[in-house]
Amino acid sequence: MIDPFGRTITYLRVSVTDRCDFRCIYCMCEDMTFLPKAELLTLEELDRMCSAFVRKGVRRLRLTGGEPLVRRNIMSLFRSLSRHLKSGALDDLTLTSNGSQLSRYAHELAGYGVTRINVSIDSLDAGKFAAITRRGRLDTVMEGLAAAKDAGLAIKINTVALKGVNDDEFHDLVAWCGDQGFDLTFIETMPMGEIDEDRTDRYLPMPVVRRRLAERWTLRDTDYKTGGPARYVDVAETGRRIGFITPLTHNFCESCNRVRLTCTGTLYMCLGQDDAADLRAPLRASESDHLLDAAIDEAIARKPKGHDFIIDRDHNRPAVARHMSVTGG
Ligand code: SAM
Ligand code: SF4
Repeated sequence: MIDPFGRTITYLRVSVTDRCDFRCIYCMCEDMTFLPKAELLTLEELDRMCSAFVRKGVRRLRLTGGEPLVRRNIMSLFRSLSRHLKSGALDDLTLTSNGSQLSRYAHELAGYGVTRINVSIDSLDAGKFAAITRRGRLDTVMEGLAAAKDAGLAIKINTVALKGVNDDEFHDLVAWCGDQGFDLTFIETMPMGEIDEDRTDRYLPMPVVRRRLAERWTLRDTDYKTGGPARYVDVAETGRRIGFITPLTHNFCESCNRVRLTCTGTLYMCLGQDDAADLRAPLRASESDHLLDAAIDEAIARKPKGHDFIIDRDHNRPAVARHMSVTGG
């Protein structure tokens, strides 16, 4: 799959549910309306979708959400998708999770060929963690991380940088990740979906985060790339990596290799644009995949050059109406 700008699409992220057991302040409102269950693709349909993309050249597959591990019977999807790892068609099957269910599933995931996971933690302070997630418990997530380590999974922590909320903890997070053997990525808040507060108040640009970290840690630029939007540095003192994701700058659009599928079968060709393609209708219209394949080709041919995110006082409305939990992080 090659888009009009010559970018080869090799990475598919799939939001397997828009539901979540947390309500993180920057991601959702307290009172979310979720999709009716009847709208969702079944797990078998999600497998068929993913397999069509793998056949067309996707090498990396990430399941996300919402919280992927709260979808009922989600392990059966990991189990079925693991056949593409075994056949060599897929290089990487992974997930992004809030960690709340990891102690239950970590070993099973490893058994299906998952080797690394991303887990989101925005604070190491139990009270603050509860306030940010509105429903989460830090100790449960910590137990999940211990299980994941025990299962041999490599772990990357995602932290959304929030001015006035967790910006006093960045050094602690770097030190803790160093001790635990985790990589760490800081993310800027993105203007996606209505939340209960004004995002401009929390927005902290990555150059500021990096400058603050450099006051205490020796950061060395690296050319390490995961095919994702993060820029990485090595931390001399801990020997671990830190990534910085700056979605509001355009520095990653030109190398964008990914598309995103929602749990209703809508394909978003760009995280920051509203244009999307319905793949559910062609999937359901025929038992063979020829309609689906044609719809995927047509969608890739429309992948836009880049996004239009802006966060400042003049642009404090969401750039796209959907929440991040619809398309996944
Ligand atoms: N529930 C899982 C989790 O929290 O990791 C997976 C889905 S979550 C939408 C994926 C990532 O997106 C998380 O790291 C989360 O912190 C981040 N995220 C959610 N809303 C965001 C926003 N508006 N701006 C920046 N990052 C956001
Ligand atoms: Fe749930 Fe993840 Fe959004 Fe938090 S960031 S509300 S854990 S989907």
